[in-house]
Amino acid sequence: MKSEIVKIGKVKIGGGLPVVIQSMTDTPTSDINATVKQCIELYDAGAEIVRMTVNDEASAKAIPEIKKILKKKGYENIALVGDFHFNGHILLNKYPLLAKTLDKYRINPANEKSFEEFVRIAIENDKPVRIGLNKGSFDGDIVKAILKYVEKAEKIGLKKNKIVLSLKSSDAVDFISDHERLISEMKKNRKIYALHVGLTEAGTGTQGIVSSSVATGILLKKGIGDTIRVSITPSKNDSRTKEVEVCKNILQTLNLRTFTPKITSCPGCGRTNKKYFLAMVEKINDHIKKYKKTKNLHVAIMGCIVNGPGECKKADIAIMLPGHQEKQTAQVYIKGKLTKSLNGKNMLKEFFEILDKELKIR
Ligand code: SF4
Repeated sequence: MKSEIVKIGKVKIGGGLPVVIQSMTDTPTSDINATVKQCIELYDAGAEIVRMTVNDEASAKAIPEIKKILKKKGYENIALVGDFHFNGHILLNKYPLLAKTLDKYRINPANEKSFEEFVRIAIENDKPVRIGLNKGSFDGDIVKAILKYVEKAEKIGLKKNKIVLSLKSSDAVDFISDHERLISEMKKNRKIYALHVGLTEAGTGTQGIVSSSVATGILLKKGIGDTIRVSITPSKNDSRTKEVEVCKNILQTLNLRTFTPKITSCPGCGRTNKKYFLAMVEKINDHIKKYKKTKNLHVAIMGCIVNGPGECKKADIAIMLPGHQEKQTAQVYIKGKLTKSLNGKNMLKEFFEILDKELKIR
């Protein structure tokens, strides 16, 4: 059973369509220039849906202007979502242009004073709503509660193809089991809604990336989730776009979407010259990054004869570097066939020439 397709501006989600990436700005929305700049950065990095806080009158007034500038700059395809808490119905009522401009409204009904009024405004403006509960602001059975809110929204008149659900938790195990329960309840009721999945408040660095990847990865592998966000706290020097990069990697790892060439490389070990091997892998990775539009390509970079031939044969283009005790010759494989042996100082240059030639053919 699939959900209905939900249209969020020019972006479509649900109904078995590819999983869409979303992100959220961290600029004050009232700072129009900074918010426009970040929306563009997030979109260029791969986020098709961008959410912004709408927490006060200044941000409510800023949204139409942000949309206008984005359109002028050629970014009219970004689906813009307003994130409302506590005063959503007041702002949407007071600023009709805000209600009209946004492509979707996001509401946490546990934090909204008038859920009914909020839903009515969405219906009047023909906008989809993400109804999301977060364990950080909700005590009790989150699955039962969200289904009650959906029932309420449908009674007011919100159509199934205007509803997206999300269940947020910062605990990966809870997050997975809540979603499994939600899916089984929806199946029991024979009503499947589009789902946004994302572990919330996942933390910083490796911990945030790993917990988000495991939690969303398990669900996505089971076909649960139509949009994804990774909510990591960026480190001081991180760009906001890092969370988008993580989303892309999760989707590509699961073969759900392809964004960049797939690179298989071994970790190296005592059989390799660490310094030489790691430098080679880095240079090849950097070289491949030049081919932004070449997605469906598999490159392997292996460090010796142990697992090298097997992995190289599975790739489109591969290089197997020599281990310490092997003949100092690198083997190049093209489409699974050992095609050329390279050695000497120009080994890498020659491999890049082969790579460039192959990539241009594609
Ligand atoms: S392929 Fe060779 S170099 Fe790479 S990790 Fe395996 S044994 Fe070590």
